[in-house]
Amino acid sequence: MTAQKIDGNALSQKLRADVTTRTATLKAKGITPGLAVVLVGENPASQVYVRNKVKACQDSGLHSVLDKHPDTLSEVALLARIDALNHDASIHGILVQLPLPPHIDSQKVIEAISPAKDVDGFHIASAGALMTGMPGFWPCTPYGCMKMLESIGYNLKGKHAVVIGRSNIVGKPMALMLLQKNATVTICHSATPDLKAMTLQADVIVAAVGKRNVLTADMVKPGAVVIDVGMNRNEEGKLCGDVDFVGVEKVAGYITPVPGGVGPMTITMLLVNTLEAAERV
Ligand code: NAP
Repeated sequence: MTAQKIDGNALSQKLRADVTTRTATLKAKGITPGLAVVLVGENPASQVYVRNKVKACQDSGLHSVLDKHPDTLSEVALLARIDALNHDASIHGILVQLPLPPHIDSQKVIEAISPAKDVDGFHIASAGALMTGMPGFWPCTPYGCMKMLESIGYNLKGKHAVVIGRSNIVGKPMALMLLQKNATVTICHSATPDLKAMTLQADVIVAAVGKRNVLTADMVKPGAVVIDVGMNRNEEGKLCGDVDFVGVEKVAGYITPVPGGVGPMTITMLLVNTLEAAERV
C-alpha cells in the first residue's frame, strides 16, 4: 500500500480562495479584516514567520500591519501596545510572535489580548472555550490538521486517535478537537512508556514532538491516517517532520508531507480566524 498524500498547499489554496471571496464581501460592507502581527526583537526565524503571515494576509485582501519593536521594549510598553491594538477598530486579530525576549512574561502578554481578537487561540479564554465546546478561536495548527481530516471526508466518530505531544499550542488542543468530533483520544508524551503499543492501536496519529523519526513504519497500523506536525532539519539541513515519511507512507492510508503539509495550513487558519473575527463584529 502507498498512502495517499494530503496536500497542505493545495488545500490551503482552496481555503484561501474562500477567504478572499468572503473578505471581498465584507469589504463591500465597509469592513476590511485587519491583523496586527507584533514582533519584538530580531529573532531571524520569527522575522521569516511574521513576513509570511503579513504577505499571506495581503495576498487574500486582508489589511495587515507588522508592529515591530526592538528587544529592549519593556513588558509595560508591550502591554500598552496590546491595549491600543485591542481598542483599534481597524484591527480584528492580534498575533504576538513567540518567543518573546526573556524579560517579558509571554503568558501575561497573551492574556492581555482581547479574546475577541485572539486569532492565535492561545488566550486562556480561547482554551477554555475549546475545552467546553463554546465558540472561540481554535489554535491555527491543530485547526489546520482538523481541516486536513475533513478534506478527505474522514469521519472520526468511533475512531481511535493518538496524539503524540501535549503542548498547549498543538498537542492538547489537537486532542480536544478530535474528542469534539467523537474520536476516542489517547495523548502520549515523553513519559509514555511504550509509544509503539499506543500508536499501533491508532486509526489516526498526529505527531507533534519536534524530533525526527519519532514515528516509524513498524509503529503504524496499516491504513491509518498520519498527520505530521513536526518541523525539524535533517543532516543536509532540509526541512523534515517527526515521521519517517519514506517508511510510513508504505503502511499508512493517508499521510501529510513535510514540507507542504501542516505548515501552510497553519497560516491559512490564521487568515480564516482573522476573517471570522471581522465577520463577528
Ligand atoms: P513542544 O512544546 O516542545 O512539545 C513537544 C511535545 O513532545 C511535548 O509534549 C513532549 O513531551 C513530547 N515529546 C518529546 N519527546 C517525546 C518522545 N520521545 N515521545 C513522545 N513524546 C515526546 O513542541 P510544540 O510546540 O508542540 O511543537 C511540536 C513540533 O511541531 C515542533 O517540531 C514544532 O516546530 C512543530 N510545529 C509546527 C507547526 C507548523 O505550522 N507546522 C506549528 C507549531 C509547531 P513532554 O510534555 O513530556 O515534555
